Amino acid sequence: MTAAPAGTAPGMGACVLVCGAVFDGVGEEVSGRAEILVQDGRIAAIDATVDRPDDAEVIDLSERTVCPGFIDTHVHLTMDAADLYRQTLASSSAKALKGLSLAQEYLRYGFTTLRDLGTMDPEFPTVDLRNALDAGLVAGPRLVVAGHVLSSTAGHGDVRGFYAPRWDLPVSAVADGAEQIRRLVRREHAYGSDWVKTANAGGYFSAGDDPARCTWFDDEMEALTATATQLGMPVAVHTGAAAACKQAIRYGARSLEHAYLIDEEGIEMASRAGTYIVPTMQMTQEDLHELTAGTLPSQAVWKFTRDNHQILDSQRLMAASDVKIAYGTDCGMFPFDHGILEFQAMVAAGLSPVRALKAATSVAAEMLGRDDLGVLAPGRCADIVAMPDDPIADITATSRADFVMRGGTIVRRPQDG
Ligand SMILES: [Zn+2]
Repeated sequence: MTAAPAGTAPGMGACVLVCGAVFDGVGEEVSGRAEILVQDGRIAAIDATVDRPDDAEVIDLSERTVCPGFIDTHVHLTMDAADLYRQTLASSSAKALKGLSLAQEYLRYGFTTLRDLGTMDPEFPTVDLRNALDAGLVAGPRLVVAGHVLSSTAGHGDVRGFYAPRWDLPVSAVADGAEQIRRLVRREHAYGSDWVKTANAGGYFSAGDDPARCTWFDDEMEALTATATQLGMPVAVHTGAAAACKQAIRYGARSLEHAYLIDEEGIEMASRAGTYIVPTMQMTQEDLHELTAGTLPSQAVWKFTRDNHQILDSQRLMAASDVKIAYGTDCGMFPFDHGILEFQAMVAAGLSPVRALKAATSVAAEMLGRDDLGVLAPGRCADIVAMPDDPIADITATSRADFVMRGGTIVRRPQDG
């Protein structure tokens, strides 16, 4: 018998999932018992009972709640915050292979789709990784990629300051002025990025920049989003200051990442414009914990000391609004095995469990422009997760998912542990 090629599996023809309960990604509650027929990687039917083709494997999930595969819209598979300097200097292939191994581990938690928001590499290792996954050369989650973090000189994406000036290492995607920015956006497209990622405010862990300050001029932000729009690419903006959040919304960003210091007016603008916010709440919780414990790196201390109350206020404002929130963690900047805790951080910040679940399923899929993902319905990709217990009654159930299917291929079964 020959091994099935990566990305497929024996029995991929058909299988029937017998589900104890179902959250379909869009409803307000968990429905009762149901069956799902999976054929050729897609959901063929979902109903109280479904046809059982002769060759179908029947999988007993009758003690579990079944929901769409989780989508994490903000990861960095090739960054390692614990050793950022050294990781940055690794070869492109070393980064891609490390990223593959992280992606495969992360899939076991239920994350069937990831959006990677940038590598610090002169080449495009995450694009190569996405292509290898799409081609079935390697197994893993689906990947959507923004190649690099486009930034002004001295902006959040300019990490050249890590190294002595004489090295001038090509680890940052830096541009100043409309003409250079257009060239850089076009370069991202030419080499295969799906999204454009930029930073229009400083960050907390980068040295020398300030999240409370804008780093693009309006004409620079406009040049970036207009060029991306011309090429059909959505734009994700790492942002902080309320003024920077508003600038990103005004010039057509599709998603605000972090939006650390957004105010009520900014949230209203985002709601009106249909801009998504990816608030990365678990990472912030952990950073604030480290601030209290005295273990934060020195360049982050003064910023978090100044901003910690404002960041939590901004998270509460988002939770109290109807703005579209998508699930994203920034894993890579902190450990991938904490990424599943974003569900709990969202609920702790005031989101309802249903809204947190939608953030990681239907809302994230909508943000990615993927109408084949995020919802359990006929015709959709069979990206399916199951967990003991009801995640709407107890959001911590999400961290106990023990069945994972990606495009009809089972990657984890309850008995695997
Ligand atoms: Zn990030």
